[in-house]
Amino acid sequence: MADLAFEKARFWEKKGQDSIICGLCPRNCIIRESKIGFCGVRKNINGILYSLVYGYPAALHVDPIEKKPLAMFMPETYTFSIGTFGCNLDCSFCQNFTLSKNFPEINTAVTERISSSQIISKAIYAKCRSIAFTYNEPTVWAEYAIDIATEAKKNNLPIVLVSNGFITQKAIEEFYPLIDAANIDMKGFSENFYETMCKGSLKHVLNSIKYLYQLKKHIELTNLVIPEKNDSEEMIKAFLDWVERELDKSIPLHFSAYFPTYKYLESQPTPKETLFKIREYAWKRNFTNVFIGNIR
Ligand code: SF4
Repeated sequence: MADLAFEKARFWEKKGQDSIICGLCPRNCIIRESKIGFCGVRKNINGILYSLVYGYPAALHVDPIEKKPLAMFMPETYTFSIGTFGCNLDCSFCQNFTLSKNFPEINTAVTERISSSQIISKAIYAKCRSIAFTYNEPTVWAEYAIDIATEAKKNNLPIVLVSNGFITQKAIEEFYPLIDAANIDMKGFSENFYETMCKGSLKHVLNSIKYLYQLKKHIELTNLVIPEKNDSEEMIKAFLDWVERELDKSIPLHFSAYFPTYKYLESQPTPKETLFKIREYAWKRNFTNVFIGNIR
């Protein structure tokens, strides 16, 4: 890690003598000298905040766009998918923790710096029709994502965002106008679920979704359904009520099965009958684009 050249971060200011307050996500970490924020990838070095992952993707893949999942944006095309390390939430059930939480791997896995224009060249070479920010949480590498998206615009390559939506208004206003389509994870429709299972808050996520909707971006929403945690009739009803009230019933909704992993191992995998029941209920309420996934 010591040999890597780090990029100065944005969205921060000084706090007192030797601390920094990061304004990229609502956690607003106060980071003392030589310390790293909650997401694991933003470090105070001599009073300046640096991104430890700018230019250092941990994963680059060509994926079908349906895998993001996006069911109704540029179907049957391939998207050039990028992810780094780190996450600003701590979901005990994280299905992708090897990238979101496994920071020691940064030391060995990442060695080559890849500029934003090199990402565009690779996407074009791979004949991809879009670029996706995915795998880990793109908010924590927003500076890199913003630069890639700016380059992509010059090359008419749409940008896809797969995110938890936990981001500040200031960062949203710079980042989201560059996005063409997004799948936002709505992890469970209650503040208590977000506090206890994710160390985050629902209201910021809903704000992000509404902002994308106001910008008229293509939006799809994903809800990972965990038995006895976020699968109650009340929670699913509250989620659908909110979509109906604030967005519209044609928004594609993805309900996916959970599998025990990371720190939350108590539940059994989500029975497929639970997903069928949710889909039936949504259909009865005239939600037109309801998808179930991750069924094994
Ligand atoms: S982006 Fe990272 S460092 Fe910044 S406030 Fe969020 S968790 Fe903390």
